[in-house]
Amino acid sequence: MSQMVFEERKDQFFETGTDKPFRISCDKQSLAGAVSQRACVFCGSRVVLYPIADALHLIHGPIGCATYTWDIRGALSSGPELHRYSFSTDLGETDVIFGGEAKLTRALDELIPLHQPKAAFVYSTCMVGLIGDDMEAVCKKATERHGIPVIPVMSEGFKGNKRAGYYAACEAMFRLVGTGDTEGIPPMSVNLLGDFNLAGEIWIIREYLERMGVSVVANITGDGRVADVRRAHGAALNLVQCSGSTMELAKMMKETYGTPFMRVSYLGADDMAQALYDVAEFFGDAQAMERAKEIVSEELGRIYPRLKRLRKDLEGKRAALYVGGAFKAFSLIKSFRLLGMKVVLAGSQTGTQEDYEELASICEPGTIIVDDANPLELMHCLIEKDVDVFVGGVKERPIAHKLGIGFCDHNHERKLALEGFVGMLNFAEEIHATVMSPVWRFTPRRTLPRLEEVAA
Ligand code: SF4
Repeated sequence: MSQMVFEERKDQFFETGTDKPFRISCDKQSLAGAVSQRACVFCGSRVVLYPIADALHLIHGPIGCATYTWDIRGALSSGPELHRYSFSTDLGETDVIFGGEAKLTRALDELIPLHQPKAAFVYSTCMVGLIGDDMEAVCKKATERHGIPVIPVMSEGFKGNKRAGYYAACEAMFRLVGTGDTEGIPPMSVNLLGDFNLAGEIWIIREYLERMGVSVVANITGDGRVADVRRAHGAALNLVQCSGSTMELAKMMKETYGTPFMRVSYLGADDMAQALYDVAEFFGDAQAMERAKEIVSEELGRIYPRLKRLRKDLEGKRAALYVGGAFKAFSLIKSFRLLGMKVVLAGSQTGTQEDYEELASICEPGTIIVDDANPLELMHCLIEKDVDVFVGGVKERPIAHKLGIGFCDHNHERKLALEGFVGMLNFAEEIHATVMSPVWRFTPRRTLPRLEEVAA
């Protein structure tokens, strides 16, 4: 395994295929000074709530926090686009001394009448955590004045890792759930949790479910609407995709409303098919199962000949993944296998002990599993494992390109739908275009000795 690992982080790495029993340290604060690839708590809550398109999203803090998360996801909306603004109270030095509550009140009083949102989310940031503004009280009064839910999101950036932000977002959404009318919701109905409608993906999934006769009550949160979240407790089942970000909400709904939940993934042909079969099985509906089988065979028939052609070129190539939540890594490993490729590095920002254990069990021997990595470690591992393509997000892209390695954006900035069967084909085409690009002839891949020379 890579030698370029901080001593204090050695237990956050594991290499499969050795005699050692599986053990990894994770779900903890990042090592100070290690330049973690992770985002802060506030960013964690922002990415989850951002796609609710008819809500006002007001960031109570310095302007930098708002800029950092402005239009942060490629989450599309079929209607309003209020989510794409990044409103801020723009706190400064004077507010640190005298407090920012008056400024927050003024911002809400100006923005709510102007934009007529269905609800407002007010995000707390590091500075608010330090000066101690009573956001709960300000939001409560604004709710009374404006007649819409004004909800504080307790997401002070320093209070934990990104997962704490997911939790803060779930707590905020849970305040909406149960406040809407559930009349007219059919028995075969679901909520889609943990899908953010990147490049319109949630529309693909909704279409499959509709073909099976299953209604979707609330998108949580891609192409989300406040009214749908309010009546989400009327759905028969919660389908949880990005479990790190929305599992807490599913658990809260189960405890309070008895709504069962099921983990699914819409990424990759195997997992997409399994998700449809699992839904049909949950409802015990023979017709829905029949339709699910029809969808799978029809859609696979459409993409398979092209996948076979792409696989011919990709067979034996090596991939590395570093993603936000570990759920995505499971599906990506299966997708790469379908393309004849081998995953040699799999890591995430926020995986849990169970996630990594499951990940290790499906990886081939010699795969590095890593938690909360930093650029130096990733760079070294990519070279050591002689990777052909690196899958990650915006912060991982320059690492790959500087090393002369292909890159595939699988994060929330992407513009290409990667879910569903059509998404599997898009993914394969992108991997093929990247790995087989002639550009790599002109930017030779960096090698380990050269890296060590640079480090020396
Ligand atoms: S909340 Fe804190 S850590 Fe997050 S962007 Fe703002 S200042 Fe930075």
